[in-house]
Amino acid sequence: MRNQIRDEIESGRATTIVTRFPPEPNGFLHIGHAKSIWVNFGLAEQFGGRCHLRFDDTNPAKEEQAYIDAIQEDIRWLGYEWSGAVRFASDYFDQLYAWAQHLVREGKAYVDDLSPDEIREYRGTLTEPGRPSPYRDRGVEENLDLLERMRLGEFAEGSKVLRARIDMAAPNINLRDPILYRIRHAHHHQTGDAWKIYPSYDFTHGQSDAIEGITHSLCTLEFEDHRPLYEWFLAQLPVPSKPRQTEFARMNVNYTVTSKRKLKLLVDQDVVDGWDDPRMPTISGLRRRGYTPASLRKFCDMTGVSRAANVVDIAMLHFAIRSDLEDNAPRAMCVLNPLKVVLTNLTADHDEVFEVPGHPAREDMGTRRLPLTREIWIDREDFMEEPPKKFFRLAPGKEVRLRNGYVIRCDEVIKGDDGEIDALHCSVDFDTLGKNPEGRKVKGVIHWVSAEHGVPVEVRLYDNLFLDEAPDRDKDADFLDHLNPDSLVTVTGIAEPALANIEPEARYQFERVGYFCADRHACRDGKLVFNRTVGLKDSWAK
Ligand code: ATP
Ligand code: MG
Ligand code: MG
Repeated sequence: MRNQIRDEIESGRATTIVTRFPPEPNGFLHIGHAKSIWVNFGLAEQFGGRCHLRFDDTNPAKEEQAYIDAIQEDIRWLGYEWSGAVRFASDYFDQLYAWAQHLVREGKAYVDDLSPDEIREYRGTLTEPGRPSPYRDRGVEENLDLLERMRLGEFAEGSKVLRARIDMAAPNINLRDPILYRIRHAHHHQTGDAWKIYPSYDFTHGQSDAIEGITHSLCTLEFEDHRPLYEWFLAQLPVPSKPRQTEFARMNVNYTVTSKRKLKLLVDQDVVDGWDDPRMPTISGLRRRGYTPASLRKFCDMTGVSRAANVVDIAMLHFAIRSDLEDNAPRAMCVLNPLKVVLTNLTADHDEVFEVPGHPAREDMGTRRLPLTREIWIDREDFMEEPPKKFFRLAPGKEVRLRNGYVIRCDEVIKGDDGEIDALHCSVDFDTLGKNPEGRKVKGVIHWVSAEHGVPVEVRLYDNLFLDEAPDRDKDADFLDHLNPDSLVTVTGIAEPALANIEPEARYQFERVGYFCADRHACRDGKLVFNRTVGLKDSWAK
C-alpha cells in the first residue's frame, strides 16, 4: 500500500492522501483494530495526509455512547489524533436518503415486500443465479411513495426493504440487488427518533468516503467481494469524489479471539471483569495489563500488513512489550511468595541502606534506597531443603547473594508444629558487598525485601485467557470451552518500600520475576495492585 501511494504521488495521480478509521461503536477496540489504526493513521502520517475518525453507526440496536467514548480514548492513547471533528456516518443520513431517491428515479432501486427469508432464497447461490422479486418492476412514483412512508414509520420492521436494481444473475452475489435500507423502529444515539429506516453498510460506506474526500479506503479482505458494489454506487451517484477501496488481511493473534461479538460474550457472561480486563485483547485491556502505546505500534510494525490471512503468535506481542520494558521500566524487588529470613548476626535495630540504580543501564532513572534489616522476606521458591545438584539458590548450609547486598548462609531451618517451614536463620558475610567472598564461588543471587520496611501489594498474575491456540477454530464449537481456568491467580506479595508511592500505570521490572504495571483502577487510597504484564521470558513458548 505504501508503494502504491508513493507511485500515485510521484506520478501526480494523487496530491494528498486522506484515509479514515471507521469503527462500528458496538464494542471496545481490540488488537486487530490497533492494526487498522496503525495502517490508516500511519499512512496519513507518513505521506503528510489526513486520517478521519468516522463512526460507522448504521445499526443503532447494537451501538452505545459508552463505546464511542472508549474508542476515542483508545485511539488517543495509542498516540494518534484524527483530523477535524469526530464524524459519524449518521451525519450523512439526509444525503444518503436523497441519493436513494435519486437511484429510485433512475430506475435503479425499488421497494421490495419480500420477507428477509424470501430475499435470501430468491438471491440464489454461487452455482445458481437469483430470481427477480415480483416487486422488482414497481413504478418510480410508487417506489418513491413507499420509500417515504418507510422513512416515516408507516410499516413494520421486516415488511419492506429498499434494494438496488442491478443484476439478479450477477456471478458476484453482492450485486444481486443488494439491500440499501431496512426498517428499524429504533432510537439512535446520534439521530434520536428521526429515522425509522437505516442504510446498509454497503450503501453507507463508500458514499461516506466520497463525502469526506477519502482517497484511500482501506479495509479488511472480507470486503473484497463488495468492491464492485462500492464502485457501482460511486458510478451511479453524483458524489463529490471517487475514493478507492484497497483490502488487506485481518490480523488475528493466537490464544485469544479478535471479534467484538465474542469479546462481548466474555464480558456479558462475566468470564472477565469488563472490556478492559487485563486478559482481554482489547486496547484498553492491553493498556491495563501494562502494554505501552509504543509496544503496540512496534508490534504492528513487526507483523506488517499483507493480503494473506495471518495469525500472529502471541509471543510476538510479548516480545514487543518485553523489549520496551527491558529498556524503559525501572527495576524493583517484590517477593510474591514470602518466606521469612532472620539474619542472626544483625542487631534488631540494624538499618543499613543500599543505594542502588533504578535501572542498570539508565543513569537518568536515578537510584533507589533499599533498607536491610534483621528480618527480611525471600521467595519460598528460592529455598529448598533437599536441593538437586544444580540448585544455586538457598539450601541448608549453602550460600546465596542477596541482590544488591551481602552473601548470606543458611544455618538453620525453623519449622512449625505442622512441619511447614516458618523461617530460616541465616548469617551475613559482611566482607562480600560488591565482591566475591574469599576462596569460594557463590553463583546464586536472589531478590529480597526488608520485613520492617516492605509494603504489601496485591499481585495479579495474568496468563492467556485460552488454553487452545485457536479457541474459535471450529465455528460451531463453543470457544468458551477452551478457557484457561488459571488465567488469573492473585497473590499478596511484599515489595520494596520505594513502591509505596507509585502512580497508577507505573511499570516495573520486578527483578527475577517479570514485568508489572500498577492497575489504573485498583491503585486507590494507598492500595497497591500490580498486574503481571509479561514474564521475563515465555516459559511455555515452543
Ligand atoms: P469485529 O468483528 O471485531 O466487530 P469489525 O471489522 O466488524 O470487527 P469494525 O468496528 O467495523 O469491526 O472495524 C473498524 C475497522 O477495523 C474496519 O476497517 C475493519 O476492517 C478493521 N478491523 C477490524 N478487525 C480487524 C483485524 N482483526 N485486523 C485488521 N483490521 C481490522
Ligand atoms: Mg464493520
Ligand atoms: Mg463487527
